[in-house]
Amino acid sequence: MKYKHALFLYPYIENHATSVMKLFPPTGLEYVAASAKDYVGKITLLDLRYEKELTNPVSLFSFIKKEIDIICVSIGWDRQFKEICDLLSCLPEDVPLIVGGYKATETTEELFKTCPPIKIIVRGEGEETIREILKGIPLKDILGISYRQDGKVVHNPNRPLPAVDTITPPDRSLRNNDYRLSVNGVNVMNLTFDSVLSARGCPYNCKFCTFSLNPLGQKRNYSARSVDSVVEELEHIDAKVILFSDDNLFADIQRAEKICDGIIEHKIKKRFVAQARLEIAKYPRLLEKMVKAGFKALLLGIESPHDRILAQLNKGFDSAMIREAFKVLNKYPIYYNGYFIYGNIGETKEEMLYISQFAKEIGIDSIATNKLRIEKFSPLRALAEKTPGYHITERGELYSDMYSHATLKKIGRTIKFSFYTPSRYVKILWKNVFVTKFFTFGEIISLSVVIPRLIAASVKREIKKGRFIDSLKRTFLSNKA
Ligand code: SF4
Repeated sequence: MKYKHALFLYPYIENHATSVMKLFPPTGLEYVAASAKDYVGKITLLDLRYEKELTNPVSLFSFIKKEIDIICVSIGWDRQFKEICDLLSCLPEDVPLIVGGYKATETTEELFKTCPPIKIIVRGEGEETIREILKGIPLKDILGISYRQDGKVVHNPNRPLPAVDTITPPDRSLRNNDYRLSVNGVNVMNLTFDSVLSARGCPYNCKFCTFSLNPLGQKRNYSARSVDSVVEELEHIDAKVILFSDDNLFADIQRAEKICDGIIEHKIKKRFVAQARLEIAKYPRLLEKMVKAGFKALLLGIESPHDRILAQLNKGFDSAMIREAFKVLNKYPIYYNGYFIYGNIGETKEEMLYISQFAKEIGIDSIATNKLRIEKFSPLRALAEKTPGYHITERGELYSDMYSHATLKKIGRTIKFSFYTPSRYVKILWKNVFVTKFFTFGEIISLSVVIPRLIAASVKREIKKGRFIDSLKRTFLSNKA
């Protein structure tokens, strides 16, 4: 074997008191590590969110120097980009450093410029590519990589996307830790979390979507694992809460029903969370099976209350269909979180602020709002570029002469505060304990012990940002938005 010991490193560091960002494993990196298993002597998987003593570059450097002969790092997100570049720049230059992930694919040139130790960047999905690198195939013959050669960066052609059934699921024995909810380092509710990927891609074509379109502009066609392999993987997971990280677990309704049947038949007692489209409301038999199988929460992309915007985003439904769907969905003991996009092309402030009112009208449990982003290959780019007064930053943020970043940020906070009133938090708690039974009563009691700490941490954060009084006003006078 060319390499004896590979380090697979998840480089994000989380210092917040509450660890919501630490709940789930680094699925993408774990998939790549699993596919590398037979091609390297030993694999060490390190998640820096949990490896406090290695977050210092000096300790990480000496750990690597001792025995590692190749390093693979995943950079999937915008956040901490600079910090990660700084950390990678401190790694030993004589150990090959391979970087991959969504963000790394998007910023290949920049990463080569800012991080001298990077030798290869794996663009797009990395499972097949990493095997070829570890086998020692000449770099010029490996699809989907960019690499340094004679002081220049060479970009090889893209790699076609593989069928998902050829990909090995993660080896959970490589983990050094469980994934849990903790506050100030104290584990709460004794709940463990994990994620499973049953399919990649999505058959829909929402124009803003970056899930089904990778940063190379390749559309990920829907590709699903066999139901048996998914059920078998679920059977061997210890965690109590499992997130299906599929773009849309219910893209194939019959297959989704079979997964539920398998979970029920094999008596797999877990609490499941999944992303879905609201067309799921048309399938009551599936919804019943989901409840029986333990599906407790669905994350739904609703995007907008306005038909004009929904059509612009090519969402495939209108506001009347959203209202009808929720009349059905709200009959089932499932928690619904809705994603909304604001700052769309041509959207007025009043239209953006209506999101909160609309969410209350349809009876959704919680919302998450995001500003519209226009990625490099987004089908919305042409429309944004030709619409007078609209601009796109290098990072893909859309703003206009009328609505600057700061104004949009303010609007986003107003939407959030007008939805999340104190009574909303009570409703959320009630639904999760008495309706969906996501949490047991005992778990909630154990959570109540840390609630004062959570409030203190949040107040501290608001004071630090200089907006504590503002937050108080918004919380108690929220409907005046
Ligand atoms: S349904 Fe969801 S995953 Fe599929 S294209 Fe639309 S936004 Fe993307």
